[in-house]
Amino acid sequence: MFGSNSYLGQNNDPRVKEACIQAIEKYGSGCGGSRFLNGTIDLHVQLEEQLARFFRREAVIAYSTGFQVNLGVIPAITGRGDIIILDTHDHASILEGCSLSQATTVFFKHNDMKSLESKLKGCGKDAFKLIVIDGVFSMEGDIARLPEIVQLAKEYNATVFCDCAHAVGVIGEQGRGTHSHFGLSNDEVELMGGTFSKSFASLGGFISGDSDTINYLKHNSRSFIFSASMTPASVAAVMKSLEILENDPQVLQNLWDNTHFAVESLNNLGFDTGATETPIIPIYIRDYEKTFQMSARLIEENVFVNTVVPPAVRPEETMIRFSLMATHSKAQIEEAINKIHKIAKEIDVPLNEPTSV
Ligand code: PMP
Repeated sequence: MFGSNSYLGQNNDPRVKEACIQAIEKYGSGCGGSRFLNGTIDLHVQLEEQLARFFRREAVIAYSTGFQVNLGVIPAITGRGDIIILDTHDHASILEGCSLSQATTVFFKHNDMKSLESKLKGCGKDAFKLIVIDGVFSMEGDIARLPEIVQLAKEYNATVFCDCAHAVGVIGEQGRGTHSHFGLSNDEVELMGGTFSKSFASLGGFISGDSDTINYLKHNSRSFIFSASMTPASVAAVMKSLEILENDPQVLQNLWDNTHFAVESLNNLGFDTGATETPIIPIYIRDYEKTFQMSARLIEENVFVNTVVPPAVRPEETMIRFSLMATHSKAQIEEAINKIHKIAKEIDVPLNEPTSV
């Protein structure tokens, strides 16, 4: 499995599974309602406190999916006359959140700070401006240029919301995400969100920020208020997964050892892996049909990767997305990469000059 977002590989960790079982035994399989009414149990509150401590934020609330975080946060904090500024590669849920807002949405070119500045210049001085970016981009594996984004936000009086879905449990101190990766302080990135469906081996999402903002969201964010709460097992999985991440540095070390090993092996064989800086590795095929051929042939060889073609990317950027988990063995990575190389030669994928072999 080289297509999973479970970067820490904890979906089958016996400790995580046992925590889910215990939660089901104590609380049952579901909560039967929304957080706002009957659906809050002590586990939800404990999870939010644990996350606030870990991310060193004043407050956190947990939603039932990461998608719902963006659907619920963006329209709650923006309205008519405000301007939301997005990276063109932002996740679909961010775009959906913007479509529910009365604010105007504008886009800057992917990770291009000149483009961001020109959009900020075009906004009214007094308008509320919200910059929303992915902390790590889910297809290319590159990291948002957050220090420069924060600098521009200060200059133009904008607020920053970083969706760290692919960043938490992956980059930053102990996996605290993108602003931690760059050593930025919490008040420079006012809102930080994420999901539990990737590193945290579960389902759900969160938003973190100052207590006033989080309290406001608790009472105004429609996807939080009008949707059933996370199941006890889902909450327990996140709590255990986070506990392991905090107490066992080897997990993150394994993820990064695997990542460096894979990028180096792929580059040595002449594959173009673009601008990746994370365990998400795009292997550019740059040909629509060959990209499908590659992933279909890999399935026959028992290797699963994600096929990335238009409209997700431009036609000349088709790729297979190869992602690492902390639990992969070097032998598994080697086997998958050897198969990718063999098939690439069979179907004539152009490769760079190998750097060594
Ligand atoms: N934000 C980003 C940046 C994502 O990549 C994703 C999922 N791919 C989400 C939000 C949605 O998260 P979830 O799957 O938990 O709904």
